[in-house]
Amino acid sequence: FDQLHAEDPEIAGVLLDELDRLRGGLQLIASENFTSPAVLAALGSTLSNKYAEGYPGRRYYGGCQVVDRAEEIGIARAKELFGAEHANLQPHSGAQANFAVYAALLVPGDTVLAMSLPHGGHLTHGSRVNFSGKWFNVAAYGVREDTELIDYDEVRDLARQHQPKMIICGATAYPRLIDFAAFRSIADEVGAWLMVDAAHFIGLVAGRAIPSPVPYADVVSFTTHKVLRGPRGGMILCREELAQRIDKAVFPFSQGGPLMHAVAAKAVALREAATPAYQDYAQQVIRNAQALADALAAEGVRPVAGGTDTHLALLDLRALGVTGKEAEARCDAARITLNKNAIPYDPQPPAVSSGIRVGTPAVTTQGMKEGEMKDIAALIARVVSDPDAAADVAASVAALTVRHPAYPR
Ligand code: PLP
Repeated sequence: FDQLHAEDPEIAGVLLDELDRLRGGLQLIASENFTSPAVLAALGSTLSNKYAEGYPGRRYYGGCQVVDRAEEIGIARAKELFGAEHANLQPHSGAQANFAVYAALLVPGDTVLAMSLPHGGHLTHGSRVNFSGKWFNVAAYGVREDTELIDYDEVRDLARQHQPKMIICGATAYPRLIDFAAFRSIADEVGAWLMVDAAHFIGLVAGRAIPSPVPYADVVSFTTHKVLRGPRGGMILCREELAQRIDKAVFPFSQGGPLMHAVAAKAVALREAATPAYQDYAQQVIRNAQALADALAAEGVRPVAGGTDTHLALLDLRALGVTGKEAEARCDAARITLNKNAIPYDPQPPAVSSGIRVGTPAVTTQGMKEGEMKDIAALIARVVSDPDAAADVAASVAALTVRHPAYPR
């Protein structure tokens, strides 16, 4: 860092300011976490220099003997950790991983059945502004209005009606467990591939805290930077018979040279995720999310779907008479970082929305537990209801972060 500071104080200043921001506030964005210094070391390494198009032992460039080892180790760790037959560590992001899955299994014009965006699905699950919605024919399922849970009967009916070639489950804002066996049976009934986009919860699977989709899915795609606590990136798991199709869809179809520093960092994160300490972490992430949702409920903020089984909760703010957009800004002013989020059947447009989403991966990495979740819920409820309390709440946030620092000095 000293070298960077001497050469480019402007960018060094950005890095320091971001570190201060992380240290001085509460990071409750459900898709974020704090990677370990070991993961950061791999990311900031000379492996970034190497061109390595292809796969270990089958590269289009010389000099790949060393980086091959990083990818081989990473693949072996992914297969072991998730009990998967094949792993591809090269997708640059979750969206790239999903693009590759579509490319491997479908041709443009094919029909896909996926969760609708306003009910928690991801952009790559058929949004009209995304390749998935532009190039594929998308039918969408949602959650029931009364339970706010996936209605498996509706999914089955839609599958029978639309005869999709692929069914996707997995979401960005669904707090409950997904019944992978039910999706498998629906996919089998209509002869569809089953893709599980496990971006949000794969870390909980790695930590043995929730059931795994691997035995049920044809393909599991995910990001590596959420609960899993690895570098920003994507990964794909599949059965051996689909291995070649998946690998070719990543390279050469949709990507060029892999980011070997990121591949190495993914390998480091996979090793960390295989430890008992990480399993304790994954369990605590869920206990914290449940404690946070319960404490917010006690403050009059309704958890969507009645609560959470995972790392995130979706909160309906309508009883407070505050929109998601207002709540996000009010929390931000008190150094609590979270995002506005549409709730199912939201009367507000997405840019305003009636809800917020909170997640516990980052605060749990900081060592916070159920007691701190109660404090955080009280702080959120206070500043959301009363923007004038921002300075007071920010002082309490600062005190919490001193007791549980991110990246301790
Ligand atoms: N899939 C799901 C379910 C996600 O939540 C996300 C990101 O939040 C992605 C895919 C895309 O990941 P990325 O932002 O790395 O492209």
